[in-house]
Amino acid sequence: MTKTFLKGGEFLIKDELAINTYIPEEFTEEQVMFSEMAEDFLRTKVWPNIEKIDKCEDPNLMINLLSEAGELGLLGAGVPESYGGLGVDFNTETILAEHLGPSHSFGVAVAAHSGIGTLPILYFGTEEQKQKYLPDLATGKTKAAYCLTEPGSGSDALAAKTKAVLSEDGKHYIINGQKMWITNGGFADILTVFAKIDGEQFTGFIVEANTPGVTLGKEEKKMGIKGSSTCQIFFDNVKIPVENLLGEAGKGHKIAFNVLNIGRFKLCAMVTGGAKEATSVAVKYANERKQFGVPISSFGAIKYKIAEMAIRTFASESATYRTSSMIRNKIADLVDEGKDRVMAKLEAAEEYSIECAILKVLGSEVLDYVSDEAVQIFGGTGYSEDYPVARFYRDSRINRIFEGTNEINRILTVAMMLKRTMKGQLDLMTPALEIQKELTSIPDFGDEPEGYLAPEKKALAQAKKAILMVAGAAVQKFMMEFEKEQEIMMNLADMLIDLYAAESTILRVEKLNSIKPEKAQLFENIAKCYLNDSLERIHLNGKHAITAFSEGDELRMMLLGLKRFTKYNAINTTAIRREVADSIIEAGGYNM
Ligand SMILES: Cc1cc2nc3c(=O)[nH]c(=O)nc-3n(C[C@H](O)[C@H](O)[C@H](O)COP(=O)(O)OP(=O)(O)OC[C@H]3O[C@@H](n4cnc5c(N)ncnc54)[C@H](O)[C@@H]3O)c2cc1C
Repeated sequence: MTKTFLKGGEFLIKDELAINTYIPEEFTEEQVMFSEMAEDFLRTKVWPNIEKIDKCEDPNLMINLLSEAGELGLLGAGVPESYGGLGVDFNTETILAEHLGPSHSFGVAVAAHSGIGTLPILYFGTEEQKQKYLPDLATGKTKAAYCLTEPGSGSDALAAKTKAVLSEDGKHYIINGQKMWITNGGFADILTVFAKIDGEQFTGFIVEANTPGVTLGKEEKKMGIKGSSTCQIFFDNVKIPVENLLGEAGKGHKIAFNVLNIGRFKLCAMVTGGAKEATSVAVKYANERKQFGVPISSFGAIKYKIAEMAIRTFASESATYRTSSMIRNKIADLVDEGKDRVMAKLEAAEEYSIECAILKVLGSEVLDYVSDEAVQIFGGTGYSEDYPVARFYRDSRINRIFEGTNEINRILTVAMMLKRTMKGQLDLMTPALEIQKELTSIPDFGDEPEGYLAPEKKALAQAKKAILMVAGAAVQKFMMEFEKEQEIMMNLADMLIDLYAAESTILRVEKLNSIKPEKAQLFENIAKCYLNDSLERIHLNGKHAITAFSEGDELRMMLLGLKRFTKYNAINTTAIRREVADSIIEAGGYNM
């Protein structure tokens, strides 16, 4: 059977086939081996040192841990073997990211090194640059950092002031400027630095950190991820050979933004791993801690928390692996067409940049929720630095800020959808117009759908109509001024995030039911519960949006449409949450 896959953003207008998606329940033996290798590294090397890492008592500790991880292949898994990596497929990279996730500051250092630090060279480097730098980066002999942010340019990254000027003999660029918040900055050997040639052409450069003129600021005193190195880096007449220009002059934005697509995707995989661990830690405590003569895990209020932590984590995980398979499949298609594998990966991640932005917001907010509830389950001890959950709480917070803040990623999600529509790459207009017609005609409720998860699939199809209705009406109303209506963009982004996550859970369960039906029943209820709550949020966000720009008969008609499009059978979510919580409580940790 020939498989056809959805293009980026098409999830809003088309239905994905469960067979196309990839689910954690089908990891291969090799993939399980990789996940165990990552877990083993955390268990034996990272967690026993977690206090020391955070206290930064030994400045070499993090460097040595990165080196050891590099020797095992954990840092260069996605780098082709010809450049010293393991060259594993994209799904295996995702698995590794997830299993390295619950490692706090260490995970941040790994992500900065292997992701934004190494990928610019892998994707945009010349063959010489790749041969020179990648083997040592992939094996952890050298460490990398990514220098984009400046004191005056964060979200507005292209407003950077760091400047590069070609030397008179044409052999060097002279870089002057200042970068800020640079992860791994204190020890990185290789820096990807963005600077404007002659103050105009935004360009990437490879800078060796020991080049004269490169100096470091003090380590930042941070709220969390205290063990990760973060500092300012100053460039004072730093002379770098012209061969170290990365990609093309004036095309630095391509490097900066494309690398962030993968960064956002991997962040979601990592925080999903973190959320599982935080849930397990909280459940273990809830089973041990007794109040009123019984373990606190026996209280309904605590069960609700445990279940909701797990349900959201399950959704984040389902969306992560769904997207992983989309990227992997696209890579395979492009390779079949004759594209180089590395370039295929870059193009595939760009194709699914909307989904990557969605995941970044989804995963980071799930981890925040889970960490917050973990502290609550610990009660007073949750507030103590002597217990592990305070670290989860502090360390989680950064994920909503870096790799593009969640506001920027929400804006991007909607803006990219609209841009692709304008360019004719995504046809949102035809279905949006059909929905407008449907709104003014007599509703056809049709027959009750039949088949496995049929009511859920129908509810998802209807939810897509709700989003298209709101988006279509908002665009018609504001036209070119729409992007100034950020509150409505936030509503739409949240609707898209809920839809994508809910659909991912349903697809996962549908596939699971076809391969391991005995495992599917509990997951089926989880997916239904998540869908139920997502539809309620989609309804609320839709209402906020349309009441902001519509009134009178038009408003009434859209509110009725919204209600119809977000309808779902009443289900007993309390019973489902109890069932989920009981299963986790009995297992003594996250077991989904
Ligand atoms: C611990 C840590 C590690 C980091 N590591 C790195 C690194 O390795 N390399 C690197 O280059 N950078 C790094 N950063 C920087 C990080 O990417 C930026 O902090 C982030 O992009 C936000 O920029 P900013 O801090 O200047 O905030 P600002 O851009 O000033 O944003 C402040 C607030 O305004 C909102 N906002 C801004 N613009 C808009 C808009 N157009 N519409 C709506 N809301 C808006 C933001 O969402 C945010 O809530 C790191 C930051 C931290 C804290």
